[in-house]
Amino acid sequence: MTAAHPAAADARREAFEIRKLDKRLHRLVGQAIADYRMIEDGDRVMVCVSGGKDSYALLDILLGLRRRAPIAFDVVAVNLDQKQPGFPADVLPAYLRSLDVPFHIETQDTYSIVKRLIPEGQTMCSLCSRLRRGILYRVAGELGATKIALGHHRDDILQTVLMNMFFGSRLKGMPPKLVSDDGRHVVIRPLAYVAEVDLERWARHRAFPIIPCTLCGSQPNLQRAQIRQLLRDWDRRFPGRVDNMFSALANVVPSHLMDKRLYPFETLQRTGVADPGGDIAFDDDPCVAEPAPAPIRVVPAD
Ligand code: SF4
Repeated sequence: MTAAHPAAADARREAFEIRKLDKRLHRLVGQAIADYRMIEDGDRVMVCVSGGKDSYALLDILLGLRRRAPIAFDVVAVNLDQKQPGFPADVLPAYLRSLDVPFHIETQDTYSIVKRLIPEGQTMCSLCSRLRRGILYRVAGELGATKIALGHHRDDILQTVLMNMFFGSRLKGMPPKLVSDDGRHVVIRPLAYVAEVDLERWARHRAFPIIPCTLCGSQPNLQRAQIRQLLRDWDRRFPGRVDNMFSALANVVPSHLMDKRLYPFETLQRTGVADPGGDIAFDDDPCVAEPAPAPIRVVPAD
């Protein structure tokens, strides 16, 4: 009998891991869609595809889920060609045609506008994103989309929470579902439960034709990059903590924060009734004494 070839064993292991990843991604996206009622029967979902790994994965997974979903919904992919120098305009149309998915490429030279308005050396991303948002809202109306799907994932959400705390002094994240600032659209983030490392792996496996978002030469957002690194280091050192942090976003206790708009601290009165589950104000660390409700496991073991 000949010994199994190591390369064949590696290939089998890799295929097994990819099957697990495939199942996990579809399960987590399906769970987020169900938890927040992101997509309903008859919806027309406009998926914003930038050419980055996240939006490619979003489209890919949504199309996969649609094939087995008990509800009927349409998907239309939209890309905004912002006329950045070197943008390979043929890549996305070719890819979307290969998927046989309806798509629309909107061409708007926001690059020139941003270049004109932002002084040399300053980051252009904020104005660029604002212009992009307005255009995509208009396109969604023209295409009759009932939902706009964006490719933000779990790590984007956590980074946003920390950035808002560190630099904005507020407890604010990035919701899985929201009404757009112009009040005319419902925006959804079906990848809300998905970890970025899984999307990176999926993008490699599916060989998405990635287009970088730095063609314009704008500097990366250094603060976000630092927070991203901080979370990754933390996750490596203390596995599970980042999952718990994410679960905490759906498990808020306003009476144990300090926002008077969320809890009536000023008018608080004694009730005279003992509550065995109530607060024990003299404990050093009530968090340790109180069993926390079961967290949402965003990366469950398969
Ligand atoms: S990197 Fe360039 S294209 Fe991407 S958001 Fe920033 S300014 Fe816009």
